[in-house]
Amino acid sequence: MTPIPAETYYKGFQKIAVHMITRGLSFFIALGFIINTFWFLWDPFWKIFPQQVLLVLLYVVSLFINRIFRRRSWERPALWTYVVIGYLTGMYFIVTAGDNFLFVGMFIITLFALVSIFSLNRKYSGVFTVLSLVAGTAALFIRNWFPPENTRFVPRDLIQIYMFMLLMEGLLLFLGYSVESIVKRYMTRLYRKSRAVENILHREAEVKRKYQSMFNLIPDLLFLTDREGYILDGNRAILEYSGLNENELKKSHISDFLPDFTGEMIGETITLLGGGAPARGVEMRVSEEGKKDRFFEMSLSPVQEEGEPDRLLILARDISKRKRMEALVKARSDELYRQSVTDPLTGLNNRKKLDDFLSSELDRASRYHTRVSLILADVDHFKRVNDTFGHGIGDVVLKGVADVLSGNIRKTDLAGRWGGEEFLIICPGTNGEEAHVLAEKIRPLIKEIPVKDDHRVSISMGVTEFREGDDIISLMARADKALYEAKNTGRDRTVSL
Ligand code: GH3
Ligand code: MG
Ligand code: MG
Repeated sequence: MTPIPAETYYKGFQKIAVHMITRGLSFFIALGFIINTFWFLWDPFWKIFPQQVLLVLLYVVSLFINRIFRRRSWERPALWTYVVIGYLTGMYFIVTAGDNFLFVGMFIITLFALVSIFSLNRKYSGVFTVLSLVAGTAALFIRNWFPPENTRFVPRDLIQIYMFMLLMEGLLLFLGYSVESIVKRYMTRLYRKSRAVENILHREAEVKRKYQSMFNLIPDLLFLTDREGYILDGNRAILEYSGLNENELKKSHISDFLPDFTGEMIGETITLLGGGAPARGVEMRVSEEGKKDRFFEMSLSPVQEEGEPDRLLILARDISKRKRMEALVKARSDELYRQSVTDPLTGLNNRKKLDDFLSSELDRASRYHTRVSLILADVDHFKRVNDTFGHGIGDVVLKGVADVLSGNIRKTDLAGRWGGEEFLIICPGTNGEEAHVLAEKIRPLIKEIPVKDDHRVSISMGVTEFREGDDIISLMARADKALYEAKNTGRDRTVSL
């Protein structure tokens, strides 16, 4: 803390002095005016007239100066004017007033001597003292030569009065210096306090400005809410996002922006997180009628003003674009996956899917001793269909077979095209007999598929059930064998092995 400069102190003191004098003098003169009016009340009007006119003039002048010269640069001239007016007033009292008011005149001169010393120039305090004594002495002499009618003072009394004035002046000078030092000390303290407060406020304002500009730089929405979810503050991004102005924002509730937030939830979040780490990655969907859904990813952090945290800082990042991209990518990859496991001609699962499914089902069956059965089906004399009606018809027939298969199995079963005109149905949780029943249910339906004219196709099926120790190769070999047997024993039939 730098010490208060002397200049500042004197300026402050001068200000006070000017203030007191401009107000005080008007008061004094007005008071003199009234007292004089009473004092001379019984005198004929013409006798008191000049005194009264002088007083009124002084009063008007003081008011005028008070009005005009109170601007800073006029402080000194105004002071000088008042000091001169003060001396003259004092002299006027001494020369003209009745005995009792002689002292008032002396007091006024003494007072203005002090004012000139303390407000105008402390260095020349001696000069001002002498000046005031000269003024007082001159006034006393004038009074002595032209005594007012009702005075009873003789020159000896005047010398006594003169001595009294000297004493009073000395006393007041001493008092003035003491008061000055007290005022100085008080003002220094006041000044230091005000500087300290100013510094704190300044620093606070600077910090606030810094944070404000940092917050405004953030493209995400940054809310500060109270425990009930009412918005206390927000950054510029919110104003741009919502089109609200700052006042409107501060009347809003967080649910106006993020509807899933209730006041209760905000309070609970503050309690739950306490003074710990902030919560991150909280996602929220914002649906508005007629608008695309928006998604926000939020970070939440309670803010501690004093003691318990009672505010929540919410940073909401608009991740709608990312969400839409993710949805698009997911749809694409889902479609790619679907294509990768689908046979393009029949729309059934392809060999790859069958392999994957079979392998995981076999794992499950051997681990948990559950059942799984296979139906391997092959269209009979399909070559002939192609040869007779052409490949196009052959394709249609294959699609027809696929439809029959997929339309007659359980949800848990999986049907796929094994290759060419061969199909495989995997039936988890099904034993061989049940699979045989399924095959026999399907077989007649195949014969209803329209080929061309009266021509129809049939299908042969080999059925087998998973046995302990089986792998894909051994299981498929058995299904193949069963199918082979069905072919060899006349086709259009189901053989279980
Ligand atoms: P079998 O009763 O012994 O099974 O006689 P098949 O004629 O069905 O047996 P083969 O294995 O000799 O013939 C299968 C035929 O299936 C050969 C091939 O041209 C035909 N084929 C395989 N894939 C397709 C396809 O995608 N579309 C068409 N139209 N024909 C196919
Ligand atoms: Mg075949
Ligand atoms: Mg065949």
